[in-house]
Amino acid sequence: MFDKEIFTLIDSETKRQRDGLELIPSENYVSRGVLDAMGSILTNKYSEGYPSFDGLTEYTDAQLGAEILPDKRYYGGQENTDRVERLAIARACRLFGADHANVQPHSGAQANNAVYNAWLELGDTVFGMDLGHGGHLTHGAPVTQSAQIYNFIRYGIDPETGEFDYDEIEKIAIKEQPKIILVGYSAYARVPDFAKFAAIGKKIPGCLLMADMAHVAGLIVGGVHPNPFDYGFHVVTTTTHKTLRGPRGGLILSKGVVGNPLKKPEKTLENIPTLIDRSVFPGTQGGPLMHVIAAKAVSFHEALQPEFKDYAAQIVKNAGVLADELKKRGFKLVTGGTSNHLILADVMSSFGIHGGIAEKALDDIGLTLNKNAIPNDPEPPFRPSGIRLGTPAITTRGLKEKDMVKLAEWILAAIENRENPEKLAKLRAEVAKFARQFPLPSDKKEGI
Ligand SMILES: *Cc1c(COP(=O)(O)O)cnc(C)c1O
Repeated sequence: MFDKEIFTLIDSETKRQRDGLELIPSENYVSRGVLDAMGSILTNKYSEGYPSFDGLTEYTDAQLGAEILPDKRYYGGQENTDRVERLAIARACRLFGADHANVQPHSGAQANNAVYNAWLELGDTVFGMDLGHGGHLTHGAPVTQSAQIYNFIRYGIDPETGEFDYDEIEKIAIKEQPKIILVGYSAYARVPDFAKFAAIGKKIPGCLLMADMAHVAGLIVGGVHPNPFDYGFHVVTTTTHKTLRGPRGGLILSKGVVGNPLKKPEKTLENIPTLIDRSVFPGTQGGPLMHVIAAKAVSFHEALQPEFKDYAAQIVKNAGVLADELKKRGFKLVTGGTSNHLILADVMSSFGIHGGIAEKALDDIGLTLNKNAIPNDPEPPFRPSGIRLGTPAITTRGLKEKDMVKLAEWILAAIENRENPEKLAKLRAEVAKFARQFPLPSDKKEGI
């Protein structure tokens, strides 16, 4: 049956993506292979439970795709799904240098909640980054379910330097004895000192060191951002759809002993992989999305290729040039610049407008980004002072340093001409003409 309404909307979204440039730092464009896997008949299958993964990281992809191992599933007919999930797990472990991966979380939020549920008791304390300073909603914002279950306390940054006050963080941590120290952010343009966080965590008995690397996972596996596991972190959670460039979904990586998820292990840091498996299923989720897990495996395979390193390095180069070009044009940047893929600009102090106005002006010319609070924002959350933008998606499209100059010009022109519809229409046509020179990766023929 032809569903005209939905077909038309998807078609028009495809045009919007082709004719515009995506500057939202949490978005990306997936490959044909990732799309193919997501649209596959694996969606028909129920696979509650887990495939066997004893010694899995020792296996080659060919072995993982060929051998049938005993599984821990609740339904039959798993000979293909088991192999798909084992490939996803093994590739994820290789990418991040982890002992264990749970590839089943439906999203980044689900991944974080599963880790909390695996390690915490009711009312336990989690020490994470303030939402207003760049942390994420799932790190204990009062509107979330986890904030009602656990006790979240927060640290922030110095907005000028972007530095954390590690002495202050240590003082609070020693006093409050958190069960989790959480390092992770959605709007922070610098790189934290993981070694310092780890040193603080090691002073607190039973403290789990958790890094939520949703935004920078692709930079980590591309070798242009430190990997928290190299500094003694126990768990890394991430989304798979941001810089990692896979399907929409979540992923939990951990260090420790990989055990049988059917047997409840003792609650120790060493047993965290098994505690996490039990927490994802049956703790917080039902059946895994096997089509999405297949797409995750495809994206992990892509991320293991040498070209992925070039892509990751180019994201950071592009962001650095874009930040400089914006500064030259009067944009005041939080932390004065960027060391990763994202930029936070204070448009209120730069141009006297709130972030929503800039977001709308840029939307009008086909550049998509989002309004965002800045640290210690004097404006209310629904009318924040800043905008957040980033370079992962445009780097995937193929844009290079010289294109960042043009982009900065357009961004300023849109803000300056925000009340001039004719000029905005002209700029929009210019952006579309330019964007069409860079096809979406999924427009290419070759899939899986
Ligand atoms: C995006 C993000 C998440 C949540 O991911 P969803 O898939 O939208 O649930 C969690 N943590 C951080 C730091 C993020 O940036």
